[in-house]
Order: sequence, then structure tokens, then C-alpha cells
Amino acid sequence: MDPVTIVAVDIGGTKIACGLVTLGGDAPQVSAVEKVPTCAMEGGAHVLARVIDQVKAAVARAEGPVAGVGISSAGVVNPRTGDITFANELMPGWGGTALGAEVTAATGLACRVLNDVHAHALGEARWGGGRDAQSCLVAAVGTGIGGAFVERGQIMLGAHDEAGHIGHVCCPAAAGVPCSCGATGHLEPIAAGPGIIREYVRLGGDESLPDGTPVDGAEIDRRAAAGDACAKAAEARAGRALGEVLGSMCNMLDPSCVILSGSVAQCGPDWRDAMEEAFKEQAMPPVATTPIVGGELGGDAPLIGAAENFVKSGYADF
Ligand SMILES: [Zn+2]
Repeated sequence: MDPVTIVAVDIGGTKIACGLVTLGGDAPQVSAVEKVPTCAMEGGAHVLARVIDQVKAAVARAEGPVAGVGISSAGVVNPRTGDITFANELMPGWGGTALGAEVTAATGLACRVLNDVHAHALGEARWGGGRDAQSCLVAAVGTGIGGAFVERGQIMLGAHDEAGHIGHVCCPAAAGVPCSCGATGHLEPIAAGPGIIREYVRLGGDESLPDGTPVDGAEIDRRAAAGDACAKAAEARAGRALGEVLGSMCNMLDPSCVILSGSVAQCGPDWRDAMEEAFKEQAMPPVATTPIVGGELGGDAPLIGAAENFVKSGYADF
């Protein structure tokens, strides 16, 4: 494929990142990325106007022609239409936005839209930690837990474009624990970053730093490395819960690899050893050898995934 440059946009609840992604060489080239606040509370129409402004500015920064616009957005996305079909209270009025059609109408450029977790996963699967793998189970573990299954470059969307919500899968250690989705017993409230902090404090860990600021996940990881028993236990519980769910999911999907990204995936051996041990306990014999690798694209993953989705239809109708 000859190199092609796409305007790539990543729309989150707090910031909009927009830049140029060139695909067609050995590795994607990401350039001219600029970030502006989303100002989500000003409403969907305002966010849309900001996105269009950013796209036009990126086109002006490009040194050559751009083929179109690839967008990664928070919310539930219908990739076949480019519409935002649902967004939560963090982006009021974003749900219902005909994002792809509006961007095309304002810029004259073809546009494709993908959910941000799906875009992140597609980027990592095609160009990052999974570039040599036929299929990948991707989990992003940070303040929440998102996921996706990608096979031969195709995102599994599901019937409601919501497939991959690995944070909202039952896990034994979460029995009775309320989840942000309204159910109880799901993985996210105990295995995402805030759950690790809650468990650390519950076990008696010191919830603040010497200067009085609340302890964060990185600090708990440092304390675990230094031998703090509460920190070690909180990380091990979260790692174990994630490993169990990943093992169960791999029995179902049998991916070539698992890609873990997000801040929690950077945790040290107390978390990782527990995660890997629980994975091996749950996974069936051939599946237990599935490599668990790190994401490689960092914050560029959704931009690269959005561009990839534009170039190659990154979805399948299941
Ligand atoms: Zn849930």
C-alpha cells in the first residue's frame, strides 16, 4: 500500500487530540498532534464544533493531501453510520451526534468513527503489541477497564456495538461489590485503579502522602515494591481477579495473545505474578500458554486505530 495520511482524532471526556497518521510503511507515523480541552459540559453541539475546528487545523498542518478523517470517540459508536448512539453523563448531549456525517459535511472529507476502546485495541492489535498475532484480546486497565477482541484486523463489535466490556464480567472476588454499571460482582470495581486504592485503605494502608495528598496507584505500587504488606495484598487481589477473568475469556476466545495496557498494567511483581498465576489456573491447558504482552503505542493507540479503521474497514457485522 502506498503511504496515505489520515487526520486522526481522539475524543475523550477531558481532551480532544488531533493529528496526522501516515499508514503504509513499516510502522505508522504520528505527527502534528495537538490537544485541546473537550469542554464536554458545554454540550454535544459545542464539542462537535471543536472537533471540526481541530480537523480543519490538522488539514492545514498537513504537508500533502489527506485521505480522510478517522475518529476515536468516547461513547457507544455505530461504526457503520459514524453516529454516537449513547454517551454517559460525563458528555451530556454527545449521544445522538451524527459525528461522521457532520464532519464530512463541514470538511468535505470522508470520515469513519470507532469507539475509543475499540480504536485503541485496533491500533495495538494491528501496529502495536499484537502486530504479529492473528487475534488479540485487549484489556486497558486504568481508572476503569475496557477491552476488545480483534481477529484478523476486525474488531468484534457485537449486536449493540458494545462487545469487549471485560470490566463488566463476573468475578468471584467481587461478589456483592457494586459496579459503576449498576450491577454487582463485576471485575472493574476491584481490579481497576480506584479499586486497588480502596482495598489498600480498607486493609489499613495509609491513605495519604506525608504532604496530605491522597495516595494514588503509582504510590501504592512503590509501597508494594518496598514491602508494604497492605499494598502487596491490594495489588495481588486486583491482579488475581484480572487474571481469572482473562483466563476465562481466553478459554472462550482462544486469542493468539493478550495485550494489557493502561496504568495498572505497569504495576510490579505483586500484581503481575498474581495475575499470571490466576490466568494459568483458569486457562485450559493449550490456552494457558497464551502470551500476555504489554501495549506498545501508549497514547497514540487510539489515533493509530482510528486511522487504521479509516483505511481498512475495521469492523465486522456479527
Ligand atoms: Zn459493571
